[in-house]
Amino acid sequence: MKYVSHARCMICKKTFKKGEFGYICLDHGNEGILDIEYDYEAIKKEFTKDQLKADKDMSIWRYKPLLPVDENCRIPNLPVGNTPLINLDSLADDFGIKHFYLKDDGRLPTASFKDRASAVALVKAKETRAKIITTASTGNAAAALAGLCASMGQPNVIFVPATAPRAKIAQLLMFGSKVILVDGSYDDAFELCLKVANEYGWYNRNTGYNPYMSEGKKTCSFEICEQLGWNAPDAIFVSVGDGCIIGGIHKGLKDLYKLGWIDKIPHLYGIQAQGSSYMYQAWKNNENIITKPAVKAKTIADSISAGLPRARIKALDAVKSTHGAFITVTDEQILKAIPNLAKRTGVFAEPAGAATWAGLKKAARNGILKSHETVVVINTGSGLKDINAAMKAAELTRLQCVTVEPSLDKFKQVASELNL
Ligand SMILES: *Cc1c(COP(=O)(O)O)cnc(C)c1O
Ligand SMILES: [Zn+2]
Repeated sequence: MKYVSHARCMICKKTFKKGEFGYICLDHGNEGILDIEYDYEAIKKEFTKDQLKADKDMSIWRYKPLLPVDENCRIPNLPVGNTPLINLDSLADDFGIKHFYLKDDGRLPTASFKDRASAVALVKAKETRAKIITTASTGNAAAALAGLCASMGQPNVIFVPATAPRAKIAQLLMFGSKVILVDGSYDDAFELCLKVANEYGWYNRNTGYNPYMSEGKKTCSFEICEQLGWNAPDAIFVSVGDGCIIGGIHKGLKDLYKLGWIDKIPHLYGIQAQGSSYMYQAWKNNENIITKPAVKAKTIADSISAGLPRARIKALDAVKSTHGAFITVTDEQILKAIPNLAKRTGVFAEPAGAATWAGLKKAARNGILKSHETVVVINTGSGLKDINAAMKAAELTRLQCVTVEPSLDKFKQVASELNL
């Protein structure tokens, strides 16, 4: 926390000194999300690109001076960060752009982007000596918290909608969490988890409530820019549910810009499922997101199904102030994007990750991208998280297996079917 100067309420802009704030600005109840601010002049003096170059720790903790943790904090055993930025320049022409990269966060330890935030949550919870950490989640934030807790022997209680994909629930059980299946939506699970955390005094990791989660998520921007030799890309595409990821991506870019390590802030494109498009609607119609009520959320992309995006203030700011856009894609486009992305890149994404690929295609079709641009697409979760959705995608795109009896003659009979 050495370089944290204060926290600022995203609604009333009131500032709180270090040590004098909890999760939220109490004047605004659960909506009073805080943004953590740093003393960038002090960081500049003591933290340099050369220092980073020499640092052998490739995890997110290499950026510790830019994170809200103490220098000598206890760090989870499970390494988080350093995901590959895959060069896809060979596909750039198809999208009418110059340089093209895929940041694959499906390769984080519990196979989703959420590990970045949960790693920071663990450190913060340990600071408070919390007996129990809790979160509500569509599944991935839960799996990330559960895995990181397991790596530190930290008891935790998880609230997920009963409809969460089985692979995510399996992760929770294997990691030894107490798993509460909520008979309702993610939004219902969120509300219940907040009430329980307050009642029992548990450490609360909830997205869009705990101000440190976007701080963990911003490490993705640090990595992208460092991997590009501190040349910021022109545009970054990422899917949006609660909006914490896109808010975090934005925060990381602003940090680097304030340090003078990058010379521009990329346009941020937030991809939403048409069936869960609160942010898109609010942005398009210029609605007030403090008063705009929840929308109905229904999409195959469970990780971005959020009727009331909890980090909506940060998400809207990310898109507006970078002159980006929100883009919606249908469930059919999302499903089709799973095999398309996989076949063209070797990266297998869950629906919310593939949504970004569908959004990029739509942006290219609509002429949003420019031929001189460098574009980064983020995959936020592994395809192994949701096999049901992948098999649905296979059905939709007529991908089939062929069954054969184990003999060469029988194989020869089917070989022609396969054009072999
Ligand atoms: C959580 C999640 C998202 C969306 O992040 P938000 O912060 O809720 O906008 C996207 N993709 C995957 C795989 C996720 O787990
Ligand atoms: Zn406030």
